[in-house]
Amino acid sequence: MERKVALITGGSRGIGKAIAKKFAKEGYDIVINYVSESAELGKVKEEMIENRNVDILFVKADVTNYNGCEEMIKEVINKFGRIDVLVNNAGITKDGLLMRMKEEDFDKVIEVNLKGTFNVTKNVIPYMMKQRSGKIVNISSVVGIGGNAGQANYAASKAGIIGFTKSVAKELASRNILANCVAPGFIKTDMTDVLSDAVKENINKQIPLNKMGEADEVANAVYFLASEENTYITGQVLNVDGGMIM
Ligand code: NAP
Repeated sequence: MERKVALITGGSRGIGKAIAKKFAKEGYDIVINYVSESAELGKVKEEMIENRNVDILFVKADVTNYNGCEEMIKEVINKFGRIDVLVNNAGITKDGLLMRMKEEDFDKVIEVNLKGTFNVTKNVIPYMMKQRSGKIVNISSVVGIGGNAGQANYAASKAGIIGFTKSVAKELASRNILANCVAPGFIKTDMTDVLSDAVKENINKQIPLNKMGEADEVANAVYFLASEENTYITGQVLNVDGGMIM
C-alpha cells in the first residue's frame, strides 16, 4: 500500500520537530519545511536519518513567500505524488506592549503566522481536492482564544488562524478534507525558553496541571486529528494546555 505523506511547516525545531517525528514513527513519509540553515537543523537531519524507515524530504522555504510555497508543494508532489496531511506549524513571536509595538513587528508576525498558513494551504488544497481526501491541522494558541498582554500581534495571528481553519473546514468538507486547529498552551521549546524563571513560575500557577507541556504532547493531539482515526471532527479547536482555558 502507498504510504501517506505529511508536510509539517517549521519542522526543524520544537513542536514541529516533535510532530514530524510522530508521523515518521506512525509510518508516514514526511516533508520537513524550514527557513534557516541552523545547527539544530543538522541535528534533526541526523536524528531523522537514523530512524529512517520512511522517506523524508527537507524543503527550505519561507512560508511568507507565496511563490516559494508553490515551488515547495510542487517538489512534494514530484517526489511523492500525493499529500495527505498538512500541518501549518511555522510561527514566530515578536512580543511587546501595544504602546511600544512597532508596525513592522505587527506585520511580520501576521505575515509568518497567518499569511504563511494561507500561502501553504492554498497551494496544497488543489491536490487534496483531486485526491478527495486530506487533513489539515493548523497550530493556533490559547493566546488566540484568550488574548495576552504583550502579544497583540501574536494573539491576532492565532485568532485569525482559527477563523481561517473554520472557513476551510466549511468550504472543503464536501471533498472529504477535514481542517482543525490545535491550540497549545505553554510548551517547552525555544519560543518559551526566552521567558525568565519568574515568568515561567507565574505561568505554571495559571495551569491546573501546574507545569508547562512537552512538544510530544502537542504532537500526539495533532496526529490524532490528522490520522485515519479522525473521520468526523472538523472545524474544531483542540486545546493542549494542561487545563489553562476551559
Ligand atoms: P520554535 O521552537 O521557535 O520553532 C519555530 C519553527 O518555525 C522553526 O522550525 C522555524 O524554522 C519555523 N519558522 C519560523 N519562521 C518561518 C518561516 N518564515 N518559514 C518557514 N518556517 C519558519 O517554535 P515552537 O515553540 O516549536 O512553535 C511552533 C508553533 O507552535 C508556532 O506556530 C507557535 O506559535 C505555536 N505555539 C507554541 C507554543 C509554545 O509554548 N511553544 C504555544 C502555543 C503555540 P527555522 O528553524 O528554520 O527557523
